[in-house]
Amino acid sequence: MNENFTQHPKDGDPWDVAIIGSGPASLTAAIYTTRGAASTLILGGAKWGGQLMLTTLVDNYPGFPQGIQGPELMENMKRQAERFGAKFLASDVESVDFLSSPFKLHTSNGDFLSKAVIIATGAETVWLEVQGLDQLIGRGVSSCAPCDAPFFKDKKVAVVGGGDSAMEEALVLSKYATEVTVIHRRDQLRASSAMQQKVKSNQKIKILFNTEVIEVKGTQKLEKIILKNSKQSLPFQGKDNNQSELVLDGLFVAIGHSPSTKLFAGKIDIDERGFVKVNDQTKTNIEGIFTAGDVHDNHYKQAVTAAGFGCMAALDVLKYLDNYATNN
Ligand code: NAP
Repeated sequence: MNENFTQHPKDGDPWDVAIIGSGPASLTAAIYTTRGAASTLILGGAKWGGQLMLTTLVDNYPGFPQGIQGPELMENMKRQAERFGAKFLASDVESVDFLSSPFKLHTSNGDFLSKAVIIATGAETVWLEVQGLDQLIGRGVSSCAPCDAPFFKDKKVAVVGGGDSAMEEALVLSKYATEVTVIHRRDQLRASSAMQQKVKSNQKIKILFNTEVIEVKGTQKLEKIILKNSKQSLPFQGKDNNQSELVLDGLFVAIGHSPSTKLFAGKIDIDERGFVKVNDQTKTNIEGIFTAGDVHDNHYKQAVTAAGFGCMAALDVLKYLDNYATNN
C-alpha cells in the first residue's frame, strides 16, 4: 500500500532529497523524509542493502525477539520507505556535483537534481595486505561466509579477525566445513561476549591467538597460508618455532570495514581515515549535504545506530528544506 505522503517531482524538477546508499541509515532516513512530505529518491546502488545483506541472523536489532535474517530486515525497511512514497533506484552514483544548486547526481540510470542530499554509503570490506591474497579472492579467499560457505562443505577453512564479524563468519562456516580455525593477532578477542561464547562452545571452531597470516599460497585456487605466532609454536608443520603453514580450502577475511567515500573525494570534507567529517550533528561542510551511518560513524557501527543516524539526518534535512525556498 502506497500512502502517498509525497509526490515525485515532474521530469527536470529537483527531488527534495536524494539519499545515496541503501543500508539502515538510508532507508530509515527515507521513512522519515517521506513522512515529512519531502519527495525522496534513494539511489541504492546495483548491490543494494549494505552489509546486512551479507549477514544471517540479526539478534540485536530491537523489535525482533527471535531475531531476523539480515536481508529480510533490509527488504522490510525498503518496503516501508516505498510505502510512504520513496522512489528506490538500484543505480550506482558515478559522480556528484555539490557546487551546483540544486545538487546534481550522475548515475548509471541517468542524471538527477536534488535540493538536499544524504550520504549514507556505508562501509566496505578491508582486505589483508599480504603477499598472494589479492590473486586468490574468489578462488578460496572470501569476505562473505553467508554467500560462500556452501562451497566449503566438508572442507577446511580459516577466518582472520577477532571481532563480531569474524565470529559470525566462523559460526556460519561451521555449518558446512569440517574444521574452522579463527586466526587472531592478539591474545584477546574484540567480539562481544555473547558472540565469543557461541564460538567457544562450537566443537568445530578452534582459535589461534597471537597469530598473523603472513602469506597466502595457491596457483589456481587457495592451497595454504603461512602463519606467524608471536608467542609460541603453532600446532602444524613449522619452518621454525613461530612460523608454520596451514593447508586450507577457504580463507575468510573479517578484519573490519572502511567507509565508502571514494566518490566524494575532493567534494566534501573527509578525515584522514576516510570517514565523512560532520560539522554539526549530521551536517557536512556543505550546506544541504548531510550524512548518516557507517560512512561517518567510526565508533558505534551498529545497524541500529546507523538507523538512528538516518533518522537524525532526515530531521535535519526537513528543517533545511523548510528554509530552502527563502534561501535559494
Ligand atoms: P572490528 O570490531 O573492528 O574487528 C576487526 C577485527 O579484525 C579486530 O579483532 C582486529 O584486531 C582485527 N584486525 C584489524 N586489522 C587487522 C589486520 N590488518 N590483521 C589482522 N587482524 C586485523 O570489525 P567487525 O568485526 O567487522 O565489526 C564492526 C562493527 O560491527 C562492530 O561494532 C561490531 O560489534 C559490529 N558487528 C556486530 C555483529 C553482531 O552483533 N551480530 C556482527 C558483525 C559486526 P584487534 O582486535 O587486534 O584490533
